[in-house]
Amino acid sequence: MARVVPDPKPVPVAITRANVWDVAIRWSDGHEAVYPAPYLRRACCCVVCLQAPVAEDPDVHPLAIDAVGTYAVHFEWSDGHAAGVYSYEYLRGLCPCPSCTARALPDHHRS
Ligand SMILES: [Zn+2]
Ligand SMILES: [Zn+2]
Repeated sequence: MARVVPDPKPVPVAITRANVWDVAIRWSDGHEAVYPAPYLRRACCCVVCLQAPVAEDPDVHPLAIDAVGTYAVHFEWSDGHAAGVYSYEYLRGLCPCPSCTARALPDHHRS
C-alpha cells in the first residue's frame, strides 16, 4: 500500500452521488470515500438537530449538494431538512472508510 502523507487541510475536489442514497467524496489529498446518506444526515450538527436528535430514516437521501464558500458543503435532504452545513474539516472527520476509522485518534506522527 502506498504511504499516505496527510494533507493538513484536505478539501473535496469532487462530491458526487455514488447512487441515490450515498455521497462519494474525493479529496485533494487523493482520499476517496463513500458516505452513506443516513449516516451523513444524522451527523448534521446544525442547531435544530443538536436540540432534537433526528430519527433514523434509512430512505433519506440528498436532494441537493452545494458548496458553501470555500470551506463547507450544504446538503438539502429528502426529509425536508436543509439547514445543515458541513465544514470540510468536519466532513473529513466523519469519513467512514476503514483507514480513517482505524486512526480515529489524533495522529501526531507528521514531521
Ligand atoms: Zn440539521
Ligand atoms: Zn477515509
